Amino acid sequence: MQVLTTIEEFREAKDALKGTWGFVPTMGYLHAGHLSLVKRARAENDHVAVSIFVNPTQFGPNEDFAAYPRDLQRDLDLLQPHAVDLVFNPTPEVIYPPHFQTYVTVEEVTRHLEGAARPVHFRGVATVVTKLFNIVGAERAYFGQKDAQQTIVIKRLVADLALPIQIIVCPTLREPDGLAMSSRNTYLNAEQRKAAPVLYRALYAAKEAFDKGERSGKELRATMRRVIEAEPLASIDYVSAADPMTLQELPPEPSQPKAEEAVLLSMAVRIGQPRLIDNFLYENGQWLAGEFAG
Ligand code: AMP
Repeated sequence: MQVLTTIEEFREAKDALKGTWGFVPTMGYLHAGHLSLVKRARAENDHVAVSIFVNPTQFGPNEDFAAYPRDLQRDLDLLQPHAVDLVFNPTPEVIYPPHFQTYVTVEEVTRHLEGAARPVHFRGVATVVTKLFNIVGAERAYFGQKDAQQTIVIKRLVADLALPIQIIVCPTLREPDGLAMSSRNTYLNAEQRKAAPVLYRALYAAKEAFDKGERSGKELRATMRRVIEAEPLASIDYVSAADPMTLQELPPEPSQPKAEEAVLLSMAVRIGQPRLIDNFLYENGQWLAGEFAG
């Protein structure tokens, strides 16, 4: 496993290895969720590249860029057993050199949910992902369903700009109590950690309501809200029951034809200060609610 920090070094190391490439972009502080993406990339390609880069442009001025957990040696130890070929670990100056002024903006699907709560976030994500795709030159890239809107934004970007890469979305990996794995879970103290599975319970309650026939967007959102509001440490940033194509909220009264039914249940909730996100997706007649680690 080689660790490269400049674009030139990365390209040289990659050119020496012939075959197909799978790419897993990350911000590091890896957990089993990230490793599930690496395993999938390993299974489907001759070679695997992982990037570790805490991307400054996707954090707002009052967000956690400085506090975001970082530990390169720990990350490399976790990647080592997975036969990763190349790790790209650039500095911010490599990605954003002096005079940098070109950004990628995906429009409509970034106006809702995380995009509404975090105004510069998806411009930063779309820009860094485009640049990383150009540097790495992989055939396939692997993303987690955990960041549902990010997968939609990146698929849109790849289709709209005809980027020559296939996007593969992998299930959300969860702790045994339902909490979606996240590098940000390290911010939770013991009491907050106990409260954090409330996101999963709220999504599950709305799924159950949907499975019993509830199709009102308003009622599905109210179901999630009730569960979160019963947890004293939790405060809602947003809860959403939206069309997964457009990310528009489902209206109070059902409007989708039955055959095309699809819903993205998603939320951002603060447990004390830490802000957590999670989602369940229903499409093609089935729920994508994630998998339990173990
Ligand atoms: P991050 O380091 O948070 O930017 O995440 C890097 C990639 O890992 C993104 O595609 C995430 O969606 C994915 N990811 C993060 N958490 C999980 C999880 N619990 N299960 C599966 N994928 C995840």
